[in-house]
Amino acid sequence: MTSVLVSGASVAGPTTASWLARAGHDVTVVERADSLRDEGQNIDVRGAAREVLRRMGLEETALAHGTGEQGTVFLGEGGRELARFPASSDDTTGPTAELEILRGRLGQLLFDHTEDDVAYRFGDQITALDQDPDGVDVTFASGTQERYDLVVLADGVNSRSRELVLPDAPRRYLGMVIAYLTIPRADDDTDWWRWYVAGRGRGVNLRPDDTGTQRAMLNLMTDVRGIDALDRDAQVTLLRRAFAGAGWQTDRILAELDDAPMYLEDLAQIHLDRWSVGRVVLTGDAAWCATPVSGIGTTLALTGAYTLAACLAAHDDHRAAFADYDARMRPFVEKGQSLPPGTPGLANPQTDLGRKLLGTALKLAASPVATKLGGIAGRFGNPPADEYELPAA
Ligand SMILES: Cc1cc2nc3c(=O)[nH]c(=O)nc-3n(C[C@H](O)[C@H](O)[C@H](O)COP(=O)(O)OP(=O)(O)OC[C@H]3O[C@@H](n4cnc5c(N)ncnc54)[C@H](O)[C@@H]3O)c2cc1C
Repeated sequence: MTSVLVSGASVAGPTTASWLARAGHDVTVVERADSLRDEGQNIDVRGAAREVLRRMGLEETALAHGTGEQGTVFLGEGGRELARFPASSDDTTGPTAELEILRGRLGQLLFDHTEDDVAYRFGDQITALDQDPDGVDVTFASGTQERYDLVVLADGVNSRSRELVLPDAPRRYLGMVIAYLTIPRADDDTDWWRWYVAGRGRGVNLRPDDTGTQRAMLNLMTDVRGIDALDRDAQVTLLRRAFAGAGWQTDRILAELDDAPMYLEDLAQIHLDRWSVGRVVLTGDAAWCATPVSGIGTTLALTGAYTLAACLAAHDDHRAAFADYDARMRPFVEKGQSLPPGTPGLANPQTDLGRKLLGTALKLAASPVATKLGGIAGRFGNPPADEYELPAA
């Protein structure tokens, strides 16, 4: 039996932990937050990741806990409908996937699934990793020191523990900030993802959930970096200024900014040419964040976590396992990270002309002919989630 420390209890962490525990390893998960985090919105589980949930016996439960989103409707000036894309009815396609679930809900399902087999430690984090050929000495913020055979870093795009082994990981910023909020549901809210194209690089979104609230999203194209590091008051002031007078339901969302649960992200991809250093290995967003606009981040996290555990099961030596994991995942990750040209700026246009062109493109993409051809924009809403074959468990 090997002792493994996993850092991060969202999607990739508990999934890796589950499969490693199932293979007989002694697994501990450390999470920086004091409890499971509930923030975030609808995420898509597509293609190969559906199969991972299936193999964990969780697919039906996840489907039963979906958000009930009926599809995506784009709105233009004055809230006028531009185009409508019903939810897909298969594993892979469409802006609204068949398996849409709140991120916090999926995290909870994965936690519940692993709670009996994995030791969870909340409110702590790794501060130092010292490895020798036989193991890794881990120091935690709490002051505890422990030795593990392997360490898996699954602690997201802003992983601080990654900095301990691969400092200054290159980030590819997309020039876009998203604020995710949970706000009260109004009587006239619908079960569609309503995406209002507000102009001046802004998008205002409302999405249904299965908890009786609405999930709001404010998209802002901006060259200013570091907004995610500002305190909440400064973020609120900035968002109020940027979205003032944007129209449609914007004022309703801005009115909730002071108190609503909020998670703000400055979209950046992580591109690393290696995902392991000795006995420490990365997975999920910490390794290869593709960003939410890829539509495949959670799918990559689930498949990567599963693949890592499968490779460790298939090889006696962790170096061979990590090389195998890299070789299997890298082509899939590269496809997932490669966004359609103009993403995300084209969908959040700055000018009136840009808004008009987007409206025309969306109408064409939603037309029956384009739907038959698989979408005029090619990859629009169709990330390559099924272009991966899972190894045996
Ligand atoms: C709060 C939150 C809300 C999100 N909302 C959305 C959304 O609305 N839409 C969307 O597409 N994607 C969202 N995401 C991102 C999405 O979950 C990921 O892209 C994807 O599921 C991959 O998951 P992951 O497990 O690799 O990383 P993440 O989901 O980012 O999880 C990383 C986990 O590690 C923990 N952590 C961070 N640093 C440390 C540390 N030093 N030590 C220990 N633990 C640490 C975090 O608290 C978190 O629980 C959100 C992520 C988070 C954390």
